Amino acid sequence: MDTVKITVLSGGVGGARFLRGLRHHLRETLPDGDGGTTAEITAVVNTGDDMWLSSLRITPDLDSIMYTLAGANDEVRGWGRIGETERVSAELNAYGVGWPWFTLGDLDLGTHIARSHFLRSGLALSEATARITARWNLGVTLLPVTDDEVETQVVTDDGTMHFQEWWTRRRASVTARRFEQRNVHTARPAPGVLEAISGADAILFAPSNPVVSIGTILGIPGVRATLVGASAPIVGVSPIISGAVVRGMADACLSAIGVQTSAEAVALHYGGRRSGGLLDAWLVDESDADAVAALAPAGITSFAAPLWMRDLETSARLAADALSLARR
Ligand code: GDP
Ligand code: CA
Repeated sequence: MDTVKITVLSGGVGGARFLRGLRHHLRETLPDGDGGTTAEITAVVNTGDDMWLSSLRITPDLDSIMYTLAGANDEVRGWGRIGETERVSAELNAYGVGWPWFTLGDLDLGTHIARSHFLRSGLALSEATARITARWNLGVTLLPVTDDEVETQVVTDDGTMHFQEWWTRRRASVTARRFEQRNVHTARPAPGVLEAISGADAILFAPSNPVVSIGTILGIPGVRATLVGASAPIVGVSPIISGAVVRGMADACLSAIGVQTSAEAVALHYGGRRSGGLLDAWLVDESDADAVAALAPAGITSFAAPLWMRDLETSARLAADALSLARR
């Protein structure tokens, strides 16, 4: 039986929706059958948002993906578990423990306690993630990009702070000057990450934050070089539609690194592979069709398609479009 290996670089919520669509598309088009082709999806996930809070290791992007693929996520709120309560968090606040502005739901805390237990018993984050995701039958292998604690720090005029403090507490209201990945120079990719890239048949960049999701993945030593040398085509999906972020505050991250909030500028930031960059192809929204011709000189084959992931169907269509660009 042939196996098609698809590796996706992913952040949290945008990446989770894309992965759910990709899994759906592949289940529809490649149902397992004798002698048929099966697909294997591996997500290489950002860990820059991770932190220790109240003695627990929190990994927001891994968990957003896990809950979404498990169908256990809160669709309305956009993050966390469905049917969540916050009784434990209220107790922690009463004791003055943790960050009052960062609520940990009770069910979510179960995940963090389990993860912290595994880490304290000596497992690496990638091993702890394998144990935790095994419960849910996700149909996607989740690999943290690194087992090392490489947390994103935001340098602002108001001081340097953890990414979560800037993003969740300050809602990106204080201007970011730059992003730093603490201890990144000594970090190593988690086991399986480089193999997932070099052994892939197709590599996709989810429509995730180009700076603090995909950017942090690319910052782990060895990842970028392995992408550049990979034999598989690399196709990116724009997280920017009509010059605006769809959800979240990615524009505040892009301006900190001097990149315009446009589908075209993000593609040029990743760069065309022909000129030492990363992208063979780039998917933009139909409203950004102008970018298709503009990106041709950079050697980035672009295609305009609907990029809004409104539901499972639209996310699956988007994933199908990304895969067909990879096949070209
Ligand atoms: P986070 O870690 O939870 O911030 O999630 P990601 O980094 O994976 O994705 C965040 C990005 O997803 C945002 O910058 C949005 O611009 C993008 N995004 C969210 N929803 C959509 C959508 O429906 N379509 C597209 N193309 N991008 C989206
Ligand atoms: Ca994130």
